[in-house]
Amino acid sequence: MPLLMIPGPIEVSDRVKEAAAGAPPGHLAPDFIESFGAALERMRRVWLAGDDAQPFIVAGSGTIAMEMAVVNLLEPGQGAVVASSGYFSQRIAEMARRRGVEVTMVEAEPGAAPALDAVEAALAKGGCKALLATHVDTSTGVRVDAKALAGLARQHDALFVLDGVCATGAERLEMEAWGVDVYLTASQKAIGLPAGLALLVASRRALAARAGLKALPPMSLDFEQWLPIMEAYEARQPKYFSTPATTLVKALPVGLDEILEHGMDARFALHERAGRAFRAAWASMGLTLLPKDEAIAANSLSAVMLPDGVGPDLVAAVKARDVVIAGGLYPSLKTQYFRVGHMGVVLTRPADLEKTVRAVGEALDEKGHAVDVDAAVKAFQAVFAG
Ligand code: PMP
Repeated sequence: MPLLMIPGPIEVSDRVKEAAAGAPPGHLAPDFIESFGAALERMRRVWLAGDDAQPFIVAGSGTIAMEMAVVNLLEPGQGAVVASSGYFSQRIAEMARRRGVEVTMVEAEPGAAPALDAVEAALAKGGCKALLATHVDTSTGVRVDAKALAGLARQHDALFVLDGVCATGAERLEMEAWGVDVYLTASQKAIGLPAGLALLVASRRALAARAGLKALPPMSLDFEQWLPIMEAYEARQPKYFSTPATTLVKALPVGLDEILEHGMDARFALHERAGRAFRAAWASMGLTLLPKDEAIAANSLSAVMLPDGVGPDLVAAVKARDVVIAGGLYPSLKTQYFRVGHMGVVLTRPADLEKTVRAVGEALDEKGHAVDVDAAVKAFQAVFAG
């Protein structure tokens, strides 16, 4: 198998693969009940959430998790502000519109983060039930200032929903301390599992917002349908609403344990160092980033502009070197940049990271952009070694 360096799905550890192996369990099997309960408990710790926050594990993707957040917190006629940093912020805005919500967009140029004073001005107009943002927008590689946005939401009495699909478990986020109401992700990113689980943690305020809705959410996404199930499994009792993705849930506490064994501070620091090391390698190759400022460049992935004369077929030339990277995603710039994911277990395998730098450097060289590949690898190593 080639090395998977796209921004999700990512490489999965041997321990997670072993945990997912074997006959799929039934949802009432004692070992499965234990895995489900343990996964819920560990999510609170990875999310740095309070004891009273409620984790949800539901079969699905990141998009399902986003939809769950939107339909449980908002109903037709209410207002929301979306602090947009790219394609996925636009997606959550469209979800809110389809729910009949009046959406105010605070836009940013591709590669920029939404300006905090513009977000504040939009909130100050009043009538905003929730502020929605994307922690790391995978289309632009931009990380927003989640702590500052959470502060603004609190100040204006709005709920704060943060899409962490390309960030949770990689970029620092302190759900309880910063006051985030829903922090959501999917299993295939920095959580380190195969795709197939929508993962959310909701604050008590978020649950209260659901309880206050007049327009019920679709049944399969309803917090109140899922809440008794989560409570039961955490108490090590099975309860049925809709069949869980048993194989994935069996592996989830193992993936979360790998993160927790590392320690959350060390985990965030490792991703930060990897982000800087890859940026040093790109700079040494004479490349620039799509994010306009290093301070807002994500640590979980790089979004890198293609140099003059090199087109999106760079991705295939890298693949020929047994490393899979991704093309651009932001619609108007799609053909002008490429993306490399650097999150999760692969960060414990420096040789694979160097192989990625080498593969991109050699492919660029082959396409006519001269690169000193050894120098790029050295630039990477100098930062990654700390
Ligand atoms: N939000 C972000 C930031 C993402 O990166 C993605 C997936 N790339 C999604 C949402 C949607 O997740 P999924 O593809 O699992 O539906």
